[in-house]
Amino acid sequence: MSRSQFQHATVIGSGPNGLAAAIELARGGVSVRVLEAQKTIGGGTRSGELTLPDFVHDVCSAVHPLAVASPFFRTLPLNSHGLEWIHPSAPLAHPFDDGTVVMLERSIEETCENLGRDAAAYRKLIKPLAEDWENLFADLLRPLRIPRHPLTFARFGLSAMRSANGLAKSHFEGERARALFAGIAAHSMLSLDQAFSASFGLVLAVAGHAVGWAIPRSGSQKIADALSSYLRLLGGEIITDSRVESIDELLTSKRAVLCDLSPRGLLKVAGHRLSENYRRKLEHYRYGSGAYKIDWALNNPIPWKSAECARAGTVHLGGTLAEIVASENAPPKGKHADQPFVLLAQPSLFDSTRAPKEKHTAWGYCHVPNDSTFDMTERIENQIERFAPGFRDCILRRKVSPPAELECHNANLVGGSINGGSQDIRQLFLRPTARLYSTPTKGLYLCSASTPPGGGVHGMCGYFAARRVLREG
Ligand SMILES: Cc1cc2nc3c(=O)[nH]c(=O)nc-3n(C[C@H](O)[C@H](O)[C@H](O)COP(=O)(O)OP(=O)(O)OC[C@H]3O[C@@H](n4cnc5c(N)ncnc54)[C@H](O)[C@@H]3O)c2cc1C
Repeated sequence: MSRSQFQHATVIGSGPNGLAAAIELARGGVSVRVLEAQKTIGGGTRSGELTLPDFVHDVCSAVHPLAVASPFFRTLPLNSHGLEWIHPSAPLAHPFDDGTVVMLERSIEETCENLGRDAAAYRKLIKPLAEDWENLFADLLRPLRIPRHPLTFARFGLSAMRSANGLAKSHFEGERARALFAGIAAHSMLSLDQAFSASFGLVLAVAGHAVGWAIPRSGSQKIADALSSYLRLLGGEIITDSRVESIDELLTSKRAVLCDLSPRGLLKVAGHRLSENYRRKLEHYRYGSGAYKIDWALNNPIPWKSAECARAGTVHLGGTLAEIVASENAPPKGKHADQPFVLLAQPSLFDSTRAPKEKHTAWGYCHVPNDSTFDMTERIENQIERFAPGFRDCILRRKVSPPAELECHNANLVGGSINGGSQDIRQLFLRPTARLYSTPTKGLYLCSASTPPGGGVHGMCGYFAARRVLREG
């Protein structure tokens, strides 16, 4: 029985945050229904045959350090509901033009062996954080509050608040460590000269050692399937092919509505029920750069110049620190990098369910200005060819998803923005406004990646929104 004033709740959207919110509410005794616009559940954790039959591609997310580290997901019996994590031999490879590669290994010491004279500097930066990762992530994957583990948090914060470019240059002497760190920090989708861009490099490097950069067997859809299976066990209901146009019929004094939506989506379904001041703030929310994504069906594994790349689930293609900085500085200025930094995953090397026998899949994207219509296909494939000559000869079919296509697939991906909106310093903590999950309308909440702690598949936004409902109701 619910202790909340709300005996019922409707969650709009079945992304990982929507499903996490629904599960936490159901565990709190609230009867929950999830309404999903698309024919299948999962939001950013969907998979499908995007190219050819029996080639299973991840439509959005592919690699999941944050899902494995998530304090909420770790409390759920997802493995009993079909989720199996695969850990490639190494989380990440970062190749260079001379055919060498720097590897992010699970072991910090083995990673240091790659880094020559920067071994000690890498160890000093990462090891204390990795050793206390559970406490660190417990403080990071939630809204900003007085940290429960202030020493670790302060150690993290001193480096995290810097720009990735600044930290890489001052902390490391050699190109290998600098480029490795820059590539990881580029997941922020920020200019690497911006404050706090270093934080993403630290979090994901620490996660690489602490929990790995895992991929789900048979694709990221399995995350959504496991969450939904557990939700149904708790009595929750999910209705697909059910786009919500307005909250008017849904919101009552006994029924809360949680929106797994972007601020723009919230305005669409509830704008007329919001105060003018709050509405204006949502209208000014910034979405940041977009993604330009390609999925490939391949005849062979990617023919990397450096064979070591085949040990990694993820490969970062961008060369040196200076090149990666130039690539990531372009989209915020409305420009397209000639040599874009490409994030590539090659799941079928580690998961035979992804492609027919001896065939393969690859997933990759680069960052572009929000809502860009520029064709980056050739530039992305040139970057892959640069480190894997002959790549184009392996392609059986490609599926190109520019920003508009991503947004068409999922309305939350405004202009191709993949993290629920820009995660710069202003929006990192107060997402989308200082109210965080609440809105001025009683019973109406936001629970998407546009709330803290932001983008990525971890479910923590949904969890904290649900806690707020249970507390406030
Ligand atoms: C190309 C790409 C690559 C990514 N790679 C990674 C990665 O490797 N690792 C990682 O951790 N994260 C990755 N992400 C980010 C991750 O997918 C998102 O941060 C995460 O999915 C956000 O979850 P969410 O629940 O907030 O929203 P979403 O997952 O976006 O789900 C929102 C859901 O709401 C539905 N919806 C929208 N409007 C309505 C409506 N009016 N009525 C009903 N339903 C509606 C949508 O259809 C969707 O199902 C990637 C994202 C993209 C796009």
